[in-house]
Amino acid sequence: WTMSQAGARCVWSIAGAGREYPPPGDYGTGTRCYLCAGVTDGVGWPRADAIPETFTGIDRPRYPVSSTVCQACAALAHKATWEDYVEAHPAAGLKTGHAVSWRFYSHAAWGNHHECPSRDRWRDLLLDPPEPPFVYVMAISAQKHLLWSARVAESRTEYPLVVEEATVIVRREAMTAALVAFEALLTLGHTRDDVLSGRYASHRALRAGLRAHEEAEQAMRPWRDMEPDLMRVAHRVARGPKREETP
Ligand SMILES: [Zn+2]
Ligand SMILES: [Zn+2]
Repeated sequence: WTMSQAGARCVWSIAGAGREYPPPGDYGTGTRCYLCAGVTDGVGWPRADAIPETFTGIDRPRYPVSSTVCQACAALAHKATWEDYVEAHPAAGLKTGHAVSWRFYSHAAWGNHHECPSRDRWRDLLLDPPEPPFVYVMAISAQKHLLWSARVAESRTEYPLVVEEATVIVRREAMTAALVAFEALLTLGHTRDDVLSGRYASHRALRAGLRAHEEAEQAMRPWRDMEPDLMRVAHRVARGPKREETP
């Protein structure tokens, strides 16, 4: 796969192990994909067949005039392909079930590798990305289909990261600094939500020592003011002494 390809196509080429995913009936007539704007190669799905009613998070498709969805986006929108994937990777410990599909997990892919990173794993992936090209998609709500919006990264120092409905351009240096600042405040005993909002519980600030607290907050504040997207990512992946595990 190449950097000019749509991210969804790259992910499906690995996660689908090179499988094709043709529509059950006629091919769609569009040459570009309604969702990812990638080429359909003339073998895409009619939009109405490809996108189930439960598909949420597509307020801004990349090529809204098209009536066709590419095979990769169709495959990654469907639960049956997820169930095949989970069955093919028993060691990954992934779930299937009522509301569980591709959208339930985060995704990272490069070379011939695809995985569904945990929060802890994300920290490593963000700070030490693989050689490009790679694709990073971070699900937070686990409700929205996001893979169609994935972009292919071309650099280890500055790369696109899908975070829910937004695509953030992550500067690795900034990400590192924001995480260090975030984790310092967690170490002082603050909760992740308080660090994100900057509204601290005063008893925790006192227990940390006001001077230490103020110093740590001074390092955090610029990131909170200037880079709210990075803050959101840091809130998600920071390592702290006590970890409130929410999905
Ligand atoms: Zn595999
Ligand atoms: Zn597509």
